[in-house]
Amino acid sequence: SCSAEGLAAALREAAEVVAEHRSELVELDRVIGDADHGENLSRGFTAMVAALETEVPPTPAAVLKLAATTLISKVGGAAGPLYGTAFLRASAKLGDAAVLDPPLLIEALRAALEGVQARGKAVGGDATMVDALIPALSAAEGAAGGSVAEVLTAAAEAADRGAESTVDLVPRKGRASYLGERAVGHMDPGARSTALLLHAFAEAAR
Ligand code: ADP
Ligand code: MG
Ligand code: MG
Repeated sequence: SCSAEGLAAALREAAEVVAEHRSELVELDRVIGDADHGENLSRGFTAMVAALETEVPPTPAAVLKLAATTLISKVGGAAGPLYGTAFLRASAKLGDAAVLDPPLLIEALRAALEGVQARGKAVGGDATMVDALIPALSAAEGAAGGSVAEVLTAAAEAADRGAESTVDLVPRKGRASYLGERAVGHMDPGARSTALLLHAFAEAAR
C-alpha cells in the first residue's frame, strides 16, 4: 500500500522519467503532431514537484488533486486537461483513505480511464493514450491479488504493448487525426507517455 508521502514520491519519480524522455516524446509528437508533448508534460511535472516541495497534502486523494490542478493549469494542449481529468477522477475515488491499497488503486485507474474517455471521447483503437490505459486497467485487474508494485508493474507492461499497438492504427482523435493514414507507422506520443508514467509509479512502489 501507498501513503500520501509514497504517492508524492511516485510523482517525483514520474517527473524524473518525463524529464529523461522529454526529447523522445517531442520527437514522437513532431512526426504526427506539433512537437510539444515532451515540453508540455515536462513543464507540468516540474511545476508539480515544486508544488509538492512546498507541502505534501495529508491524504493520497489530496496529493492526486494537487497533481491534477497543476497539470490542468500548466500542461495545456490536449494532454493537460486529459491527464488532469485522469488524476482528478482518481483522486475522487480515494475519499479520505490514508493509504492506497491494490483494490483502491484499481478503482482509481478505472476512474482515470473513464475520465479520459468522458473528456476526450476516444475509444480503444483511436490511437490515443486510451490505447495504453485500456490494457493497463485490464492487466491491473488481473494482478489484483498482488501488491501495489505488482499491480502497477502489470499495468505498465500492458501499457507498453498498448502504446506499441498505436503504431499500426489510423488516429481518430486529436491532432494526429488530421494526418489520417499518413500517421500509420508512428507511435502515439500520449500512449507512450502513459506507459512511461505507469512505469515510474511502479518503480516508486517497489
Ligand atoms: P496537443 O495535441 O494539443 O499538442 P499534446 O501533444 O500534449 O497536445 O498531447 C497529444 C496527445 O494527447 C496525443 O498523443 C493523444 O494521446 C492525446 N489525445 C489527444 N486527443 C485526445 C482525445 N480526444 N482522447 C484521448 N487522448 C487524446
Ligand atoms: Mg502536441
Ligand atoms: Mg500542442
